[in-house]
Amino acid sequence: MKSINAEGFFGEYGGQYVPEQLLPILNELAATYDKVKTDPEFRAELDYYMKKFSGRPTPLYHCSNLSRELGGAQIYLKREDLNHLGAHKVNNTLGQILLAKRMGKKKIIAETGAGQHGVAAAATAALMGMKCTVYMGKVDVERQKLNVFRMRMMGAEVVTATSGQQTLKEAVDEALAAWMADAEESFYLLGSAVGPHPYPLMVRDFQSVISKEAREQFLTDTGKLPDYCVACIGGGSNAIGMFANFIDDKDVQLIGVEPAGRGLKLGDHAASLSFGSPGILHGFNSYMLKDEAGDAAPVYSISAGLDYPSVGPEHSYLKDIGRASYEYASDAEAVNAFFTLSQKEGIIPALESSHALAHVLKLAPTLSTEKSIIVCLSGRGDKDVAQVAEMIEQGIFSMP
Ligand SMILES: *Cc1c(COP(=O)(O)O)cnc(C)c1O
Repeated sequence: MKSINAEGFFGEYGGQYVPEQLLPILNELAATYDKVKTDPEFRAELDYYMKKFSGRPTPLYHCSNLSRELGGAQIYLKREDLNHLGAHKVNNTLGQILLAKRMGKKKIIAETGAGQHGVAAAATAALMGMKCTVYMGKVDVERQKLNVFRMRMMGAEVVTATSGQQTLKEAVDEALAAWMADAEESFYLLGSAVGPHPYPLMVRDFQSVISKEAREQFLTDTGKLPDYCVACIGGGSNAIGMFANFIDDKDVQLIGVEPAGRGLKLGDHAASLSFGSPGILHGFNSYMLKDEAGDAAPVYSISAGLDYPSVGPEHSYLKDIGRASYEYASDAEAVNAFFTLSQKEGIIPALESSHALAHVLKLAPTLSTEKSIIVCLSGRGDKDVAQVAEMIEQGIFSMP
C-alpha cells in the first residue's frame, strides 16, 4: 500500500502548500533524500548511531502482570522509552542530521513545543558539531524551563516566538520563516511526521525502525504476528513508525489514540482525526481542528507533546481507506494508565504514551488471552512526574 506519489500526496493529503520560494528548497531536499535513503554508506552510518548513540534495538517487553490482571489479550510494550533522551524522537533527529551533513549544511533550525524535539535536535547537533537554533513559543519557554536549559547546555540557541498564541504553531511559523531566509546554509529539522513533502515521508522512514524491530522481535518470541498495534498520536510520528511495517499485514489492526483532553468541546482537546475536517496548515493538507473562520483552533491536552491542531497526512489517508482506526483517551484516562503501568510493571510511561495505554486498558479485557497487542511506549514518564504530583496536590487527580 505505497500510496505516496511524486508530489508527496497520500491520497488527497500531504502535498506542498508553501510560499513559492520554498518549493525549490523542498524539492532539492526531496531529491537528495531519495538518493541518500538507499545508499549503503548512509544506512550504515545511521545504524551505527542508532545502535551506539541511542542504544537500539529497544526491547519488546511482555507485560505479564498487567495482562494477567486485565484477564484478556497479552500486552507487549515496544520500549522506545529506553532510547537515549527517553523517547522515540532521537530516531528522527539522527536520520535528519545525517542527511543535513550529507547536504553540506552547517546550521540546524528546529521548532519545539514541549521541548522534547528541541532537546533531541540540540543533542544530535552537538554530536555532529553543528550550530542549532530552536524556535519555541514564549508560553512554552516559560512552562518548560528545564528543557530550555537542557538545549542551552548542549549549545543550542533558543529563540522565543512571540506572535499569536505563543506556542508550537507560532514556533513553526517563525522557524519556517528563518529557514526561508537562510536556506543555503541551514537545514530545517522537523520534529514529527507533518509539514510539506518530503518531511512526512522522511520522518516515517526514520521512525519505521520501531516496527521493523517490533515485527521481527514479536515473530521471534511468539512465532506469529500481533493482532493489534496501538500508539498515541500527536503529530503522528511514533504511530506511523509503529504502523509502517505492519501496513501490508492485513490481519494486524492498527489503532492510533488521540488526546481527548478535558472534554470534547472545541478548545478542550486535540483529537484532529476524530473531530476535525481536511484543511491546510504548515504546508500540508490533513485533518485539522478549525475555528469558525477555518483557521487552526486552539487545542489542549494534559500532555504537552500531543497538543497540535493537525496530524500527519498519512494518518488521514489510513483513516479514510479504513486501514487504521483512531480512538481517543481523556486526560483522566491517561493519568489512570500512567499509574497503572507504574504499579503493575514498574515502568513509568510518558503522559503521551499513557494515552495509548489508556485505550489498551479498555481493549485488552474484551479479547481472549490468545490475542496480543503491541503498544508503542513512545517515552518515559520521568519528565511528567512533577506535573502529575502537583495536580494530585491540587486535588485534580488522585493516586489510585
Ligand atoms: C513528542 C512525543 C509524542 C508525540 O509526537 P508524535 O509525533 O505523535 O509521535 C509522543 N510521545 C512522546 C514521548 C513524545 O515525546
